[in-house]
Amino acid sequence: MKIWMNGKIVPPDEAKISVLDHGLLYGDGIFEGLRIYGAKIFRLPDHLHRFATSAKAIGLELPGGLDAVRQIVLETARAFAESEGYLRLVATRGVGALGVDPTTCDNPTLFCIADRIHLYAPEKLARGLDMVTASLRRPAADAVDPRVKSLNYLNNALAKREAKLRGADEALILNHAGLVAEASVANVFTVYRGVLSTPPASDGSLEGITRDSVLEIAGAAGIETRVCSLGRFDLLAADEVFISGTGARIVPIATLDGQTVGKPVRPIMQTVIDAFGPYTLEHGTAY
Ligand code: PMP
Repeated sequence: MKIWMNGKIVPPDEAKISVLDHGLLYGDGIFEGLRIYGAKIFRLPDHLHRFATSAKAIGLELPGGLDAVRQIVLETARAFAESEGYLRLVATRGVGALGVDPTTCDNPTLFCIADRIHLYAPEKLARGLDMVTASLRRPAADAVDPRVKSLNYLNNALAKREAKLRGADEALILNHAGLVAEASVANVFTVYRGVLSTPPASDGSLEGITRDSVLEIAGAAGIETRVCSLGRFDLLAADEVFISGTGARIVPIATLDGQTVGKPVRPIMQTVIDAFGPYTLEHGTAY
């Protein structure tokens, strides 16, 4: 593991933030998760753009601007020096007074962690995950917009916790209207009669960079793609169901609430997975 903090790479036990940091006290901050594939950072400009957009949406000024942030990510990846890995870039509101008021925080805290990541066991990836519908709903887009990749992940963490308590691997999170938002930290896709569908961000999902890659790869392979609202019914009726995310990559879903979903063979998901490997190498930034 390598960690960049306060201008340099520091050992993990020296990478500490204050208990008065509003990132900790109030979840006031933003983050990005990025992947290193083949010694290149996958879709770095897109991750930086999303980071900058999240910062703008919450009125957080990135110290040194986006170029400085880019250099931090590159420096962390260089220090990590492995050709495969995961990067976690975080900006918090910084240290301030005990009250929630962000205007008491003068300097955002910025750090970047590089490490290895393996989210699911290989046999899970082959068989598919067990998913359950979370009892908690996704906060509406007129609360904190789900397109902001904020440090407020309590909803996601509780959905994941519930899934584990119920013996499953992943949670399906619905919005206030009962439509599919996303999984705990991944976007949801269905394939029905050859058409690949995923919900719009306005139904309560993050605009995932892996999701965007899946749509692009599928489109280039001549697969019809749609961004449209989905309900639980659509998952239960689908020929294939899978999720996508930087950490998870592309992972099939085998069951929903105990019921088998999709077929054991998933040709469209497989087409996308097969193309995803080369795609990651073509869309990377060397460091
Ligand atoms: N939704 C949420 C809530 C997430 O945290 C993530 C992971 N960043 C995703 C979806 C997937 O997005 P991406 O493909 O950009 O990692």
